[in-house]
Amino acid sequence: MIQSQKHLQTKSSPAQFSGTSPQLTVDLGALVSNFNTLRNAAQQSGSTCAGVLKANSYGMGYERVAEALWAEGCKTFFVALVGEGVKLRGLFPKATIYVLSPYLSLDADLLREYHLIPCLYDLDGIDLWIAANGTAAPAALHFETGINRLGLSTQDLEQLLSNRSRLNKLDLKLIMSHLSSADEQQSEHNQQQLEAFKRIRNEFPNTPASLANTAGVFLGTEYHFDLVRPGIGLYGHDPHYYENQGSRLKPVATFAAPLAQVKNLKAEEAVGYGATKLDRDSTIGVILCGYADGVMRALFKPDSKEGHQVSINGYKAPILGRVSMDMITIDLTTIPKEARAIGSMVEIFGNHSPVENAAAMAGTSAYELFTRVSGRAVRKYV
Ligand SMILES: *Cc1c(COP(=O)(O)O)cnc(C)c1O
Repeated sequence: MIQSQKHLQTKSSPAQFSGTSPQLTVDLGALVSNFNTLRNAAQQSGSTCAGVLKANSYGMGYERVAEALWAEGCKTFFVALVGEGVKLRGLFPKATIYVLSPYLSLDADLLREYHLIPCLYDLDGIDLWIAANGTAAPAALHFETGINRLGLSTQDLEQLLSNRSRLNKLDLKLIMSHLSSADEQQSEHNQQQLEAFKRIRNEFPNTPASLANTAGVFLGTEYHFDLVRPGIGLYGHDPHYYENQGSRLKPVATFAAPLAQVKNLKAEEAVGYGATKLDRDSTIGVILCGYADGVMRALFKPDSKEGHQVSINGYKAPILGRVSMDMITIDLTTIPKEARAIGSMVEIFGNHSPVENAAAMAGTSAYELFTRVSGRAVRKYV
């Protein structure tokens, strides 16, 4: 064991840590509570609630997140890539697993072998999937209504309907589309996409339909159809947080790293790359995480010397100095000595330092901050 780790392993306080890795603590109780909030909203219109687990469950880990949702009665999962679906299938032999971004010319065999349902988005993909399966190929059809990412176009829809030979060979499980602007409650795109999706749905009266992501669930019952597909809400971010100035969901993730060193510096001294000059005599703390762990450099603005407020033992402390690969420096000047012991875990985002604040400062979203948390961080579940 290295020397520094030894002195960081003091047992005097429960806030102390037992290793030098940054930690992403996932509150599974809060996750389940968020699932129930979204499921209850969906149930008002008779809609079922699935869970979106792409990107390692938004950085929080497939296995434990999926287990918690499954135990709560969530039986349908969405992932982005076929490899994610294969991983999930190993854990849940009976789950319904949709793959949002299948690439049929390469993925057809794995999709079949692992009983994954592709969300097909072009005619070529449909043809390849039918060829791989013979008849009754289990599939979702993903239609374009305005986001213009993956999706069958209006012309594709016309072709499918004018000669129904393709549709006849599919075991159609779901028709779906995706909203571009559901996080903006007043955006006219929402209503436009809703109307476009309703027109498509009229052509498939006997097939379950799905439009809403998390934000869509909160837009109202007319967006729910038969199945809703929340992702980010499960993980604790309310997409209308900024517009509503608050959250209807519970924070799930706490990202924290240990305080390794504290130093007293004079006003003329500097910290970090680029030598950010101190404006006053300061107490600076060094934390063992950095941009390699997903802490964005944009969380400190060198020109204004403004930094995201992290928290340490309940006190707020701004990042001061540029974020390095494995270290960040924070301003502890006004924090009482007993609240800044070496080894204290410093929260970058979580209950005390909302991820929404960090996202706003970095000019990004909670989605990006969650999924940026690196593999180096230890995932803990409570
Ligand atoms: C990511 C994704 C979702 C989940 O969206 P959230 O905003 O995280 O709730 C749902 N549907 C599709 C097609 C997606 O790509």
